[in-house]
Order: sequence, then C-alpha cells, then structure tokens
Amino acid sequence: MREHGLDKDSVLQNIEDHLAKDAAWNKVLNSICTEPLAIGKEAFIRSIDTNLGDVRIFRGSSELEHKAVRLLASLLGGGDSPGNIVSGGTEANVLALLAAKKRRPDIASPEIIIPETAHFSLFKAIHLMGLQYRIAKVDSRFKADPASIEALINDNTVAILATAGTSELGSVDPIEAIAQVALRHRVYLHVDAATGGFIIPFARKLGMDLPAFDFTLEGVCSITVDPHKYGLAPIPAGGILFRDRHIQQLVSVDSYFMGIPGHMTMLGTRNGAGAAAAYAVMEHLGLSGYMEITERNFELTRYLVRQLKDRGLRLPLEPELNIVLFEMDGAAQFLRYCEERGWIVSVSKRFPDAVRIVIQRHVTHGMINQFLSLLDRFVEDRKSAGAAAKGVPSS
Ligand SMILES: *Cc1c(COP(=O)(O)O)cnc(C)c1O
Repeated sequence: MREHGLDKDSVLQNIEDHLAKDAAWNKVLNSICTEPLAIGKEAFIRSIDTNLGDVRIFRGSSELEHKAVRLLASLLGGGDSPGNIVSGGTEANVLALLAAKKRRPDIASPEIIIPETAHFSLFKAIHLMGLQYRIAKVDSRFKADPASIEALINDNTVAILATAGTSELGSVDPIEAIAQVALRHRVYLHVDAATGGFIIPFARKLGMDLPAFDFTLEGVCSITVDPHKYGLAPIPAGGILFRDRHIQQLVSVDSYFMGIPGHMTMLGTRNGAGAAAAYAVMEHLGLSGYMEITERNFELTRYLVRQLKDRGLRLPLEPELNIVLFEMDGAAQFLRYCEERGWIVSVSKRFPDAVRIVIQRHVTHGMINQFLSLLDRFVEDRKSAGAAAKGVPSS
C-alpha cells in the first residue's frame, strides 16, 4: 500500500483503463447475463450504502427486498411463498439444499439426486454440506429422465434437483413428472430456474410450448430464480423462494441480538442494492415489458437457427430457450479466432465440436449478421489455407 494515497482522478483513471479491457456488450454472444436496465442501475446506486443484515436500521430497504420477493413469487405461481434476494443462483441453490438436508435430521448420510446436466453450483453445495449425490440420466434432448430419478431414490435421499433451463444448453427438465415422483416418495424437490425463471413464464404467456415448472406443481418445495440473468437486474441479484414458511424456517439462524429476526441467507452483512434494483426493474417492466423482450429474443434465436441451417450446419439439439449450439470442425479454433477479433462465444466441454451462442437483450439482428460474416470468413480462410497446403492455387 502507498505511504500517501493516490489522488482521486488518477485512481478513477486506473479504473477506467481496466474497464476499457472488458469486452463491449455488442460483441458478447456467450453470456446469460446482460447489461442491466437503466432503472436498475439507478436504483442500485441509490441503495448502495444499505445493509440487509440489519433490518432495524434498514427497514425500508428490507421492505424493498420483500416487495421483490413478492414479485418473484407472483411470477412463479407462489401466492405467498417466502424467500430472499440473495447473491445469485449459487447461494439460492445452497440454501435450498440446506433446507432439504435439515428437513431430514433422521438421515445420517444424506444423498441428493441431480441430473447429469445440473449446474456446477450444486457441487459447491454438495461439498459444503458433505452430501452424497447420485447422477440421474438425461434423454436425447438432455432432459432429466424421471424414471432414472425414481430408480435412484433410497432411504438416504433428502432431495431431488431438477433444472428449468440449463445455462449450458437451455434444456428444460420435465418438472411435472419429476414432481410426481417426488410427491410419491415424499422427497424434497428443488427446481433450479436460475436461467429459465425469467424466460419460461413469459414464453408460456406468448403461447409457446414450454412446460410448467413452478409452485403450481404440488411437490415443488423451492425454486431458484436469477433476476441478474434474464431478469435484467444488476448483479448481484439471485432469488430463493420456498413453498411455505415451514420450509424457509429450516434455513433460519438466530442472531444474538434482540429484535433481529433470524438470518435466512448465507451472507450476513449484505448489500440491499441488488434487491432494490431487482424490484425496480420488475416493477418498471411489468409482464408486458418482459413479454416483449422475450418475444424478441425468441425471434432472434429462430433467425440465427435458420441462418445456421441454411449454411448446412448441424445443431446437436433444437433450442428450447435462447441458447443455440451448432456443430463445426475446429470449434475451439473458431472460439480463439472470434476472441482475437473482440467477439466472445463459448464451447461447452460436453460438445467440444460445437459453438454455443446465447441470445440476450443486448444481442441485435445486426450483431448476429456480423457474427455470421465472421463465421463465413473463418470457413473461407480455412478452406483456402487447406487448399494452399495441398498445393491448389486459391482463387
Ligand atoms: C447461473 C446459474 C446458476 C448459478 O447462478 P449464479 O448466479 O451464477 O450464482 C445455477 N443454476 C443455473 C441453471 C444457472 O443458470
């Protein structure tokens, strides 16, 4: 550390220099997160010096968190389902599995069942809580197989996890069938809708063929939903919702101070800005705002799929949400080719020969066209490099 501090302008200039190296949103095609809505940023800054760890001081901020939770619950078929705005989907998933584990203190060696496609955040929860886990099979469309889940249930099973929209592939598990399995065996079911929670409800209202995944299904005990992804709120804003107060109480830890209700989040001291901003964005957009954005995202997704298929490229799976994978030789090479030109795409380890593109609010028609030109140029360059290697003159 410096003996005497650096002046403000120099410090801020340093920050600007570093921020300038971050990719510009207009070349980002791999991100489930996006630039937040302006009103979210404003609300965030207004609330930046709040602390939801002390609701006696920050009573109004706590009310904003409560309002944000009410909006999430109304979106997810949970009239009065309680919950919290947390740091993200990871924390929400940890809290859900904590509730499931504490619900069964009689089980000495608790196990959970997760599909092959479950998000890696679950492994953080598994390691933290010393859980055992069993991996359920997925079908050809990468959806969890309810029969495989049922076959793995045993006396030590404390929870089943299902995903409503994986961030890797956008596949949606058959939650209704899985909820029936959970009910039949009286096992806790957690639905990870971190990605799909802000897509599927609006897509269904638009008449798209996507399944129910929320509290309207008896058997669903908790849901993760991330306002900081397709909810268009600034990071950090994740959501954990529980079906009822009894389940939520399982994660409550008493403070040693009078007048402070039990903490129900992993974090103690925690900023209220994310909650205020999530509230602001949801209140401002309303159902019609999200539906408009969702409709546009799906239009753009269909456009990209058409363009890829017109080029003879194969998709390993038909996109259910706004994530598109297409196969190509040298996908990893193409990823670097893009990066050298400022474009960010991704390649999933499950499909090392496929490029993964995410359509989010910042992605435009123009961006997709620029990306397709880049793809065409890469294919051309490689063709002529291959021809040159064989001694064929390139035109
Ligand atoms: C993003 C995501 C998570 C993790 O959420 P973070 O906000 O990154 O902590 C968990 N599950 C799914 C399905 C996700 O898409």
